[in-house]
Amino acid sequence: MVLHRGREQRILPGHLWVYEGEVAEVRGSPGPGALVDVLTFRGAFCARGFYNPHSKIRVRILTYEEEPIGPDFFARRIGQALALRERVVRGTTAYRVVYAEGDLLPGLIVDRYGDLLVMQTLALGMDTRKELLADLLLEQTGARTVYLRNDPGVRSLEGLPRHQGFLRGAAQTRVEIEEGTARFVVDVAGGQKTGWFCDQRENRLSCASLARDADVLEVFSYTGAFGIHAALHGARSVLGMDVSETAIALARENARLNGVPDRCRYEVADAFEALRALEGEGARFDLVVLDPPAFARRKEAVRRALTGYKEINLRALKLLRPGGYLVSCSCSSFVDEGMLWQVILEAARDAGRRVRLLELRGQARDHPMLGAMPETRYLKCFVVQTV
Ligand code: SAH
Repeated sequence: MVLHRGREQRILPGHLWVYEGEVAEVRGSPGPGALVDVLTFRGAFCARGFYNPHSKIRVRILTYEEEPIGPDFFARRIGQALALRERVVRGTTAYRVVYAEGDLLPGLIVDRYGDLLVMQTLALGMDTRKELLADLLLEQTGARTVYLRNDPGVRSLEGLPRHQGFLRGAAQTRVEIEEGTARFVVDVAGGQKTGWFCDQRENRLSCASLARDADVLEVFSYTGAFGIHAALHGARSVLGMDVSETAIALARENARLNGVPDRCRYEVADAFEALRALEGEGARFDLVVLDPPAFARRKEAVRRALTGYKEINLRALKLLRPGGYLVSCSCSSFVDEGMLWQVILEAARDAGRRVRLLELRGQARDHPMLGAMPETRYLKCFVVQTV
């Protein structure tokens, strides 16, 4: 597969995607998911990866070496992914074992919940090798079962159908995990993403350290992770809200599991409406957490998304008592740190609040960002205090 002249300059620094428009010539007739070499216009070897004639991302690069890509290669890459987790993951039974491109395994996501692995093969090349990958993962992690959560819509961009179910072994799809001093029930079949947001783990623990004696508002609570940690760290009260009924049911269950149901209250509500209603009631909090879904899933949607982020940050800041804390997140990779900070500053100005920045945080270290691929950095988390 030959690149247009000069295109290797985008690839060689480490961006793992070759786009359709960058391909000058396809030599031979590689099948969907086959391994191909990526060559410069002059024919020099650049990289080797998976080919997908049906995707805008024609090749996903696996290596910059002329090396065989077989079971040993994948075993090595998984081993390297695990070696990082051994260093950076502490005090939890729930973490990301493989973060796709961030672990040089494009299109492969694996989250571990105790003995259970949840796997997503979001690129064709990985999908065709899922049996091998499942076996290697079980062998190297010592986990017992693999559940496939291949329902994300991005699979259709690769020409892949949606599917979910056990690939290796069978067990309960509701599992209990430990994170710090808390325990949570994770529903890997019915929950969002793979059931749990491992990427927020370090942010939840950091946020909890601010929670003593605080009245906490947890907006977009999902199953209550931020608030329950806060309660276990001495929060006076937690009010959690989410538009999903199943998430709220599980949040209530999680509060009971952690012995804090009397301090944690949950409501099924639309955040935009609920924040305005709270303001109307004159409610006040010492700590507000905003962890919305990605408002911008495409570049073109960024402007509208910023309006949404501004609205929730404005309402949240207005609800804070003097000296209160705001933990404001965005998981849209199209909205960068600078944009979100600008939104927070504008919201503060409009709310008549002055703020100071305590921390600028990101996704947990089991979600490493690849230097040359800004797409792999998506989560921002600002910890701000009103002054
Ligand atoms: N903080 C959570 C993850 C939140 S994910 C954790 O650490 O586990 C974002 C959540 O926002 C999802 O649970 C989704 O159901 C919810 N959501 C999406 N749109 C919403 C809206 N308009 N109002 C309230 N919740 C919403």
